[in-house]
Amino acid sequence: MTLKEVYPPNTDSRFDSYKAEHAKSISNPSEYWGQKALEELEWFSGWDTVMQGSFLHGDIAWFVNGKLNTCYQCVDRHIEKRGGDVAILWEGDEPGDVKEVTYKELLRRVCQCANAMKSQGVKKGDTVTVYLPMMVEVAVVMLACARIGAVHSVIFAGFSAEAIAERIAAANSKWFFTSDEGKRGGKTIPLKNISDNAMAKDVAKGIVEKCFVYKRTGGKTGWTEGRDVWMDELSAVQRPYCPCEIMDSEDPLFILYTSGSTGRPKGVLHTTGGYTLWSHVTAKNSFDLKEGDKFACVADAGWITGHTYIVYGPLSNGVTTFMFESTPMYPDVGRYWDMVQRHKFTQFYTAPTAIRSLMRFGDDEPNRYDLSSLRVLGTVGEPINPEAWRWYYEVIGKEKCSVVDTYFQTETAGHVIGNLPGVTPMKPGSCTLPHFGVETVVLDAQTGKEIEGNGVDGVLAIKQPWPGITRTCLGDHERYLNVYMKPYPGYYFPGDGVTRDKDGFIWITGRVDDVLNVSGHRIGTAEVESALVAHPAVAQAAAIGFPHDIKGQGICCYTTLTNGYEESEDLIKELRNAVRTSIGPFATPDMIIPSSSLPMTRSGKIMRRILRKIASGETDTIGDITTLGDPSIVQILIDKVEGVM
Ligand code: ATP
Ligand code: MG
Repeated sequence: MTLKEVYPPNTDSRFDSYKAEHAKSISNPSEYWGQKALEELEWFSGWDTVMQGSFLHGDIAWFVNGKLNTCYQCVDRHIEKRGGDVAILWEGDEPGDVKEVTYKELLRRVCQCANAMKSQGVKKGDTVTVYLPMMVEVAVVMLACARIGAVHSVIFAGFSAEAIAERIAAANSKWFFTSDEGKRGGKTIPLKNISDNAMAKDVAKGIVEKCFVYKRTGGKTGWTEGRDVWMDELSAVQRPYCPCEIMDSEDPLFILYTSGSTGRPKGVLHTTGGYTLWSHVTAKNSFDLKEGDKFACVADAGWITGHTYIVYGPLSNGVTTFMFESTPMYPDVGRYWDMVQRHKFTQFYTAPTAIRSLMRFGDDEPNRYDLSSLRVLGTVGEPINPEAWRWYYEVIGKEKCSVVDTYFQTETAGHVIGNLPGVTPMKPGSCTLPHFGVETVVLDAQTGKEIEGNGVDGVLAIKQPWPGITRTCLGDHERYLNVYMKPYPGYYFPGDGVTRDKDGFIWITGRVDDVLNVSGHRIGTAEVESALVAHPAVAQAAAIGFPHDIKGQGICCYTTLTNGYEESEDLIKELRNAVRTSIGPFATPDMIIPSSSLPMTRSGKIMRRILRKIASGETDTIGDITTLGDPSIVQILIDKVEGVM
């Protein structure tokens, strides 16, 4: 099958109704969101004003003076109707190690955790740092914090002691959650010991008063009397009911750090009303959630994708959400598909990087499993190149599932651009059209003027506030204004380049800082990478610019090769040609560097800023690499590039 340019929904009328509803949602956002907030959430008391503030002043507030509790939305309100349904389905590192937690049981566990925290002095407004592996307890702790009004700051369990220490200090967090150890891909990770090192670092010393420790493996750990508390024991003796704190719509719900792809991670703050509505509505719309669905997002809870689409969004919608402790490669590359078959997931949500790496192992793997329960497949994190989209759609979805390409950021709380299954068309490689309430525009990067019409490119911006927009950066409102609000006054600036195609569909071309400018031609990194990945030899590709005497910028492409392909001069020539024929001679890469892996953030994104430094020979100013999965790859690439130049 060759890839079609567009896959329309079965009926045009549904696309028309999307257009009408979208137009309504942006022409009168207060009316639209006021009504949605009433229909979709339960409020203890109503608001005075639906929305106030602007991007210009960075003072946005939603549902002003409205009162609600996010944990109540996700747990309590389902008890009467579906208390016996499974809320969380968990699978551990070893296949078949499965736990199910019903809504009723979840409520009891959340309440015991909440009461345990209160018994130790945790109060509304306190920040609670959470450094847990993918245990059910991550969700329990997040919900318990929401219940008592504490602000959680979840740190992905792959982070180092330095990164944790910085985050404890930045939030001045007296409360800390971890587990004895974690399990991932057959390996044991000494989380408590890493936490001890973090709490002992100079920046964090003396800040944490209580360190709550869950048991995951029963392995040996260090112990500080007076500070450390076994959480399973403390919870077990608590009353399994705890009333919900009545929260203001604008009370903080959580802090979360961005992935750190472009620099020092930003501590983004989300608030109660707007976030809860955004996670609920976008989860429902993007994945067509229905009663009885088993929704599987295989991200980590420590990223925005996990916060919104493992915990808050699915639970608020009352479906079963899946939590996965392991990796797609453990014990073998069929793990995801084996789980789809065993659990009969209705939706499956992952990142292009996972799709590309599984695609390298061919179609036979997924074809061994029954994947017929799937209705919707989702992708997030980076532009998905059409080649990987096609594999996802054909081989995993058997051409029967919708593939939703969801564009969002830590800062946007949830999806802001993406197709809606069965409603709007799919276009491989394009994240398609904005969600309700999101008014996207294309700006001229230099003048900041809106570019009208279709078949245009520039930078992406959003014209008016939506409920999920982050309200500030932790302890640094100035940075919030500088990064998002000031570059183009009056607009929210996500930092991504964009093309609006002839049909008005949106294509993310890459980070604005990464756009290639070769002899005056502006070329999106995503376009070059797609051309490379379309070649069977290439598994992953990252295109970056480096200073070039004649052209201004040259293009350097780092690639990892598919199983069975060897690095050779002929292959490099062939890859160069592949880009040349696909885009044009001006886009021919100057350097192609095959390697065993690429520097990835721990959330699985390629860190181009590091690749740029390496290609430019600026190896003494590489910058923050604390969010890098495997730092040793940096030196390997430095040596390779020096060998070529
Ligand atoms: P930092 O902000 O610290 O540099 P980050 O931007 O990688 O890190 P996230 O908030 O996890 O942190 O990622 C958001 C970014 O990911 C978006 O700005 C965009 O560049 C990219 N992205 C996410 N989803 C998509 C998608 N569906 N298509 C294209 N790009 C996407
Ligand atoms: Mg970002």
